[in-house]
Amino acid sequence: MHEIKHWLDGTAVEGTSGRRLPVWDPATGEQQAYVVAATAEETARAVASAQRAYPGWRAASLSRRAEVMFRFRELVDAHRKEIASLISAEHGKTVADAAGELARGLENIEFAAGAPHLLKGGYSEQASTGVDVYSIRQPLGVVAGITPFNFPAMVPLWMLCNALVCGNTFVLKPSEKDPSVALMLADLLRQAGLPDGAFNVVQGDREAVETLIDHPDVRALSFVGSTPIARAVYERGTRAGKRVQALGGAKNHMVVLPDADIDAAADAAVSAGYGSAGERCMAISVVVAVGASADPLVEAIKERVGRISVGPATDPAAEMGPLISREHRDKVAGYLAEPGAAEVVVDGRSAPICEGPGFFLGASLVDKVPTDSPLYTDEIFGPVLAVVRVDSYEQALELVNDNEFGNGTAIFTRDGGAARQFQYDVVCGMVGVNVPVPVPVAYYSFGGWKSSLFGDLHMYGPEGLQFYTRTKVVTSRWPDPATSEVDLGFPKVR
Ligand code: NAD
Repeated sequence: MHEIKHWLDGTAVEGTSGRRLPVWDPATGEQQAYVVAATAEETARAVASAQRAYPGWRAASLSRRAEVMFRFRELVDAHRKEIASLISAEHGKTVADAAGELARGLENIEFAAGAPHLLKGGYSEQASTGVDVYSIRQPLGVVAGITPFNFPAMVPLWMLCNALVCGNTFVLKPSEKDPSVALMLADLLRQAGLPDGAFNVVQGDREAVETLIDHPDVRALSFVGSTPIARAVYERGTRAGKRVQALGGAKNHMVVLPDADIDAAADAAVSAGYGSAGERCMAISVVVAVGASADPLVEAIKERVGRISVGPATDPAAEMGPLISREHRDKVAGYLAEPGAAEVVVDGRSAPICEGPGFFLGASLVDKVPTDSPLYTDEIFGPVLAVVRVDSYEQALELVNDNEFGNGTAIFTRDGGAARQFQYDVVCGMVGVNVPVPVPVAYYSFGGWKSSLFGDLHMYGPEGLQFYTRTKVVTSRWPDPATSEVDLGFPKVR
């Protein structure tokens, strides 16, 4: 059994704590590797390495930093298949889904390669007589990223590309459940010409994360994961005076109005509800069926759910893989065991593949879910789609807006006016109009509202560059010695 190592100063290094965390193969239920959880001292070494690399990398020209991103993009592109297989082997998602994640990650590298354009400051000539004022964006120093299991390539790329191109150095703490991709990205960054130490990886769990949060040389923290941990990271980080963006969980509603194309809405609900076995923060987990749409919609979804092929990523016919761990699978299955007043239309527990040793659960559909049921209130993060029936658009909107989370939402309708009203009214960070998974392209920014994001700035895109830089404003005069005088009044501009 092999160790998945840390990455320090441009090379993979073994852990020393002896505290081994298993990396499972979710498709077989067997352990395939382990990480050795970083101690506080090892984590501090990664920060020290990034701190040493910082002055040199900061001094690299913008063109040079962009060039590294261009080369990194080419290398990731050339290794697409290998990276996608690695994601599938540890996460369990299908290879096609893993390739899709990587394609969205590549967009972030491309955006970062063009970032010099967006890192320009402003310049005001003659702000006062003979005085010019200009703003510059400077990097923060060492910044850290803590990432979840469900996108082991894309979410690190959301963070590290922008952070590095801005001139920061980076310490990544990937999910301990699928940690190999982080090392592969580290090696490709090295091959792309990033100086040693500018990107380090510490494997581990809470101990490493808390060391990063508390370390005085870590200037900013980007976190993506579940809401309770996101909130805790945000509170601890900001208490220490750091800039923090902490993205949390979700319960994404798809509102289907009676005039929607029912077949298209059902296709979308099934794709967005069960893709990646529902383990996406932008997965649709609640279908809000308005009025007469409910009966035909539930029927159309049920018919499609029955045809989903569940299997390991190694099976080319598989459309949905296993869940990340046995505990998580059992927890998700538990919601089906106690549906309360809800009606279980399709029970994924009866899928034959669930009897094997892998962490599989078939796709499940639950109708008439009451809004006080855990099926509605909890982020289940599995292949369980809940249907809530309402009578009107207003009731649907109220439901979405009253929900604790505000990551993504979508409306399905043929009525442009209704869609526009929804976009205007809805309290949510990312909205789809007849698009079920509205993950913004890399030149916008990604982020939810309410308990889906703690902090001010969304991730990647223009807000990502803002997050990883701070602005300095310079007021400058090149005086004519002949006009110099003593003046104790407050500086005037007119
Ligand atoms: P998680 O919160 O369990 O773990 C996320 C990271 O935090 C991991 O690196 C983990 O090692 C670390 N961690 C775990 N416990 C910790 C603790 N007590 N203190 C400090 N660090 C700790 O999340 P997960 O299960 O890996 O990922 C799934 C969750 O992530 C879901 O809730 C999902 O909605 C969310 N997610 C959100 C987004 C988004 O953009 N909003 C994107 C992807 C995933």
